[in-house]
Order: sequence, then C-alpha cells, then structure tokens
Amino acid sequence: MTKRTLAAVTSLLRQTTIRYRLIGAFVVLSVLPLLVSGYVSFVESSQAIQHQTQIFATEMVKQVAKNVQLRMAQIDANVETLILSDRVQTALAQYVGEDAADQAQAHAAMPSILLNAYGSFDYINQMYFLTSNNQIMDSQVFTKLGRSVQTFAGKMSPLKGQAYWGTIDLSSGQKGIAMARQIFFKTNNRVAGGLYLGLKPSHFSEIFEDVNLVEGSVIYLMDALDGSIIVESKARLARMNDEAPHLELKQAVLQTVKLGQSTGSITYSSSIGVVAVYSQIPGTHWFVVNTIPYDSLIAKAISVRNTIALMGTLGLIVAILLSFVIGHSILDPLKQLMLLIQQTGTGSSPVQVAHQGNDELTVLSQKFSDMSVKIIHDNELLEARVLERTLALEKANQTLAELSATDALTGIANRCQFDAVLADEWHRAARLSQALALAMIDIDWFKKYNDHYGHPAGDECLRRVATLLKLCVMRPGDLVARYGGEEFVFIATATDGPNALRIAQNFCEALQSLALPHAMSNFACVTASVGVAAMAAMIADEDHSPEALVRAADHALYQAKALGRNQAVLFTRPDA
Ligand code: GH3
Ligand code: MG
Ligand code: MG
Repeated sequence: MTKRTLAAVTSLLRQTTIRYRLIGAFVVLSVLPLLVSGYVSFVESSQAIQHQTQIFATEMVKQVAKNVQLRMAQIDANVETLILSDRVQTALAQYVGEDAADQAQAHAAMPSILLNAYGSFDYINQMYFLTSNNQIMDSQVFTKLGRSVQTFAGKMSPLKGQAYWGTIDLSSGQKGIAMARQIFFKTNNRVAGGLYLGLKPSHFSEIFEDVNLVEGSVIYLMDALDGSIIVESKARLARMNDEAPHLELKQAVLQTVKLGQSTGSITYSSSIGVVAVYSQIPGTHWFVVNTIPYDSLIAKAISVRNTIALMGTLGLIVAILLSFVIGHSILDPLKQLMLLIQQTGTGSSPVQVAHQGNDELTVLSQKFSDMSVKIIHDNELLEARVLERTLALEKANQTLAELSATDALTGIANRCQFDAVLADEWHRAARLSQALALAMIDIDWFKKYNDHYGHPAGDECLRRVATLLKLCVMRPGDLVARYGGEEFVFIATATDGPNALRIAQNFCEALQSLALPHAMSNFACVTASVGVAAMAAMIADEDHSPEALVRAADHALYQAKALGRNQAVLFTRPDA
C-alpha cells in the first residue's frame, strides 16, 4: 500500500470516532472470516453433497431399472414356455386350420389355457391370444378394448422371440402396462398368432418401495415418449398425485433418448429446487426417475450453515460488546485527558485523574497530570510575578507622574502642572459661569538675597516661601505652583478678584510675619509682591484666554513691584 493510499484510508477512518472504528475492526476481524468461511464451506459442501447424491441416485435408478427389467424378463420367460407348449401350439394349429369343428374346439380351449397359465398371477389384468392380424381371438371382448389391443400389438417387433413392452390406454382413462409378442409354430416357423398381457403397475411399483430414498425424494417410471407416468411409488402418489413430471425433466429425458444414452441427470426448479436422475429400462422407452428436493438434499449443509450464521450473529454481538468495553477503556482516560487539557488551558485547578492501569494511556494521563499541576503552579507564580511587577510599574509611573508634575526643589506643583490645571479650571469655570482667580508671586530682591546668603540659602528660602504659600491657599480645587525661578503662582477656583486679593494680602502679611531675615531688603526680611487677576474681570476682554489671565496677573505684579513691593495688587483694566 502506498503512503498516499494509507493516508487517504487513515483520513477516511478519522471521520468516525474511535469507538466506531473499534466496532468496525472487531466485526471485520471476528465475524467476517467466520461468515466467509461459512459461506464457502456451505457452497462447497452443498456442491459435494449434490454431486455425491447424484452419483448415488444414478446408481440406484440403474439398479431399479435392472430390477424392473428382471421382472419383465421373468414374464418373458414364462410367456416363452407357454407359447411353446404343445397345448398352445396344437390349439393355434387347429385355430388356423381348415376344419370348422377343430376351430371351434380351439376357440373354446384358448381361455382355459390362459387361465391355467396365468390364473395364479395376480399382477396379470388381461390376457388374450391374438390372430395373425392382431385381433383378439376371444369374441366376447369389448370392441373398444379390442381396438386398443390391436393398435398396441401393431407395434410388436416382427423378430422372433422379441416381446414388445409398452403402455396402453385403458378404458378408465389411465395407462396400463402391456406386453405383446408373436407366436410361431415350432414345426414350420410360421406366424401362428400373438399373445397380449396387460399387467398391474403395482407389480413394478413394489420394487420402488424397497428402495431407501432421501427424505422428500420420490421415484417413478416414466414413458419418455409422452412424459406420462406409468408406475409410481406410494410416496409419489401421496405427495404429488396430480403433478406431471416437470417439462424440463421430460425434455432432458427425451434428449437422452435422442443421444442414445441410457442414464442422465438434471437440476431444475419448479416451486422448489429439484435434482432428478433417470435411467432407461433397456428395450423400452421407460425411464426410472428419481427426483430429490434440493433443500432436503443439502439439509445437513443448511443446518451447518444455520449454525454458522447463529455463531456469526453471536460473534457479532460479542464483538460489539467487546468493542464497546475496550472502546470505553480507551476513551475514558482520553476524555479525562481532554478535560484535563481544557482545564489546564483555562487555568482552573487540575482535575484528579484516576490512574488505575498500567497501559500507555495511564502513563500519558499521569505525565500530563503532573505537567498540568506544574503548568498551573508556574502560571500562578507567573501571575503573582506579573502582578508584583505591574504594581511596581504603577508605583513607578505614579512617581514619574508626580515627578513630572512636581517641582523638585519645593515639592509643590511645577509650571507644567500649573499650565494644565489652569487650562482645565479655565474651561470649567467658563462652562459653569464660575469665577476663577490667579495670582503671580515674586520674591522681592531675591537676587540680592542669593548674593548675600548664598545660593543654598536662597533654595531654602524658596522652600519656606512655597510651604507658607501652600498654607495660605488650601481650599480644595486651589493650586499652588512654582512658576519659575523665585516666582510662584496660585489658582483660586470659584473665587473673584477681591477675594483672591485678600488671600494674596494674607500671604504677604504671613510671609512678613515669618520674618526670614533679608539684610539687603528695605523690610529687613523676606517679602513678596503679588499680582492678582480674576477671570470675571476678563470676560469682556477680547483676549479671553488663560494666557491673558496670566498676563494680567503679571501686569498687576509689575504694578505691585512699582508701588514699592511687599504688597498685592488686583489687576484692573486700564480703561475701567
Ligand atoms: P525684584 O525685587 O525686582 O524682583 O528683584 P530681584 O532681585 O528679585 O530680581 P529678579 O526677580 O530678576 O531676580 C531673580 C533672582 O532669583 C535671580 C536668581 O539669582 C534668583 N534665583 C532664580 N532661581 C533661583 C533658584 O532656584 N535658587 C536660588 N537660590 N536663586 C534663584
Ligand atoms: Mg523674579
Ligand atoms: Mg524677585
């Protein structure tokens, strides 16, 4: 088988489940050989039986034919003795003679001669002396019978001593067996007349009854010329009284006669299959026929066949049961394995696989179960590690976000955060028609502070200012941010200009109260100037944007510086 064919067969088989493949295999392996061998042995044994029976039956019909012939020969011998007897010869001589008185005496003597000769044989029905032109000498015989006998005798062989055997139509409509032969004068070999004997068929059928026949088989004597049954056995009478021999049988027998053969056989089917054998009785057209029903002939083979079929059916049941059980033993662990794989795939806890056997599937289940436990365990570890890393990453991201939004020096929001919050709050305030205020804070003379106290002290000062600013601007939603350098901002939500100015002034006062020394300042301590701008005041402004608010605050801051520092100024429109 080529690889391609094997692959095609395999893919075809894989269209069905393992269970049905197993059933198929079991059935094919266990039952098919039994059925095939059963069928072959049935056919072969049937043929053998038929052949043997045909041989046996042929021998049997030959034997029966011989026995019939023997009986006919006995009758022949009897007749021979009778017609050569002086009584018959004398009577016939008188009958054909010229003397009328002698003729009358001979005529009267004839019946008693025959009665003497055959009276004791119960198989003789009729017996008549015939004239040389085949007429019955007994004038009391019916004309119809006389004509039948005359016709029959017309077929007699002219050969001396040769009897003619044949069938004759009896007045009852049935056929009778008859024999006729010519009688010659011993003195001059001239034809003296003839003898006709009608015989009872039972004389021959007795022979059939002694024959041991197969069940259902029948034997009879058939006339090949017209296919009529001459003598039949009791069995045939009982079984198929009104049945004539089958046409095929008649034709076969006729054919045998034509071919000059004496025995033959034929198989034909009428209502049932029949095997027929036949053998000719020499010197006649009669055949001993034995018909055997085919079924009873092969009854033994049929019984064996039925036993095989029964065994086959039982085998089939056992095979199916066995394949179910074996299929179960294979499919059960496979199903468990599939469940295990499914559960391992979904990551749920592994199923408990029952390890009960020693086969490959048990080992596979065991190994897979171990692997599944390890996979699920590793998965859990992995998930825990991923969670841990995710949390760390989130934390790092948060730190990063805070760092990106926070000013490193002061810890308050940086410029970037300020810009974003301002934009958001601006839009929210506009949407809700709320007030929004912004303050820009600048430390006074800080350059000098740095120069005087040093840069690190300047940084520390920035931190102190940021912390204080956070304390002064602490409502939720407010934002404090380092704008850059020593400049700070705060956003006060829902707050108008004057209120924001108040917050800024509070801060300025608080810073001064903190009294961070600043030797170079007019106020001797660190102070700051604040420019305040409110969104409400900007509404009518053409340049209506967060940047404009920042510019306005810056402008106010400039004013605060100009007015002498350490104070807060609220931006007012130049034309207001
Ligand atoms: P004015 O009153 O007009 O504001 O005078 P000023 O000296 O404060 O002038 P200005 O605002 O121009 O000075 C800013 C100074 O702030 C310059 C710089 O030395 C100082 N500065 C800016 N950023 C830092 C910082 O991060 N740390 C320190 N220590 N000093 C800074
Ligand atoms: Mg400045
Ligand atoms: Mg300054």
